[in-house]
Amino acid sequence: MTAVDADVAVLGGGPGGYAAAFLAADLGKNVVMIDRDVNPGGVCLFRGCIPSKALLHAAEVIRNAAEAESFGVSFGKPVIDRHKLAAWKQGVVDDLTGGLGQLAKRRGIRYLRGSGKFTSSQTMAVTTADGVATVRYAHAILATGSSPAFPPTLGTSSPQIWSSTEALELREIPAALLVIGGGYIGLEMATVYAALGSQVTVIEATDWLLPGADRDLVRILAKTLKNHLHDIRLKTAVEELRENGNSSGNGIMATIRSGEHYTQEKFDAVLIATGRKPNSSNLGLETTGVTVDARGFVQVNAQRQTTDPNIYAIGDVVGQPMLAHKASHEGRVAAEAICGKATAFDPAAIPAVVFTSPELAWVGITEDEAKAKNVAIETAKFPWGASGRAKTLGGPDGLTKLILEPGTHRLLGCGIVGPGAGELIAEATLAIEMGANAHDLALTIHAHPTLAETLMEGAESLYGTATHIFKPRR
Ligand code: FAD
Repeated sequence: MTAVDADVAVLGGGPGGYAAAFLAADLGKNVVMIDRDVNPGGVCLFRGCIPSKALLHAAEVIRNAAEAESFGVSFGKPVIDRHKLAAWKQGVVDDLTGGLGQLAKRRGIRYLRGSGKFTSSQTMAVTTADGVATVRYAHAILATGSSPAFPPTLGTSSPQIWSSTEALELREIPAALLVIGGGYIGLEMATVYAALGSQVTVIEATDWLLPGADRDLVRILAKTLKNHLHDIRLKTAVEELRENGNSSGNGIMATIRSGEHYTQEKFDAVLIATGRKPNSSNLGLETTGVTVDARGFVQVNAQRQTTDPNIYAIGDVVGQPMLAHKASHEGRVAAEAICGKATAFDPAAIPAVVFTSPELAWVGITEDEAKAKNVAIETAKFPWGASGRAKTLGGPDGLTKLILEPGTHRLLGCGIVGPGAGELIAEATLAIEMGANAHDLALTIHAHPTLAETLMEGAESLYGTATHIFKPRR
């Protein structure tokens, strides 16, 4: 049994863990990072953000090629080489995670591949291929992330029932795919498989897609999704999934309830995308002073310190929003706090992006949230039908919406739907962080023709002065 001593031990090498480990090393600490994968990257790089965006890029190319027919450019029906596509996606993942491994090495971080478990407030046992190593540390950062959560009623195990992890492996392109869950992971994977040729049905138990996003924006996305997907059913629940092997091949029989009406429908594969749960069990936390809440999220303060002063926690394991950039930011705060810097996790706003076609992004307060919480707001909208750039991109259905504080017109939130929304939301995020108001956006010269102009003209529309729309002053 080997022993490793470190100033900082980071358990979990995802975007939270590696950002924390890298910064702690940059600030002079002796760091050990522990993860089960061959390199740092975590769910985001191996089984989440990156592979899904690679496949979504392929889907976008297929869709763009099909849409080009409307302006006289025809490519014919795409021929999909699933193995080559999967290998390309894997190449992207391997490049990035290998690069992170190199970055860790260059910073002098010791990377232990294995499964870690706390044995006290200042020790961890790490089971590696070569046996169990004891890690003794001054501070630990718990960054174990989250895993797919299957509703217990849908517990059937079958190779045809997937979580996002299996869906991203591109094992097959099923003729009929059922996606359970209309959140961002369900809709992104539905977008991929529909472009690859599957007939995709999305079933969502609540009355709306993408909880958290404003309905007027989701309505625009849903209109396009309906054109590409076989069916989207709201207020509908899948009650049971059963393997259905017969002479015509294997499949999954789903019992689907809509109100009091039950149907039995057969699919070739089912993706369950109903949420994720924090990885906080079987970590030996009972040997430490760390506490978790009823849903398993680790309790932390503004510095991301847990109820055990030696242990910090960050990322999906500490709570919503379960997003990579939130995890990374928390990781940097935890590393700074351990290094004695005055710091706190106190973002004015955290952006969220759904990488569907078109993309949908939002940041800060939403209009629906403001209404629900009785927060007074004003909104200013710029429909993309009036944007020259949107027209040239074939995306005139987009919308940019600014949510402003009445009187000061300080930007409190922003929602965007349309191609590139995920990039555009950065401007609004910076504006919120900087306390900018609608005048600041309106007075900033934006390059023409760009989609970013929709933020500027959205702000101008508040004053009745937007060049490309006529909206009298309020
Ligand atoms: P993780 O990335 O979950 O990493 C935790 C790591 O800890 C894992 O490698 C795990 O194996 C390891 N680990 C856990 N327990 C142990 C143990 N006991 N010993 C050793 N190692 C352990 N977010 C975005 O911001 N943008 C996106 O576009 C996006 N797309 C996504 C798409 C999909 C399909 C999925 C599933 C998620 C997506 N996410 C996206 C969410 C994002 O992946 C997570 O928010 C992010 O990875 C969380 O980072 P983390 O550092 O908290 O943990």
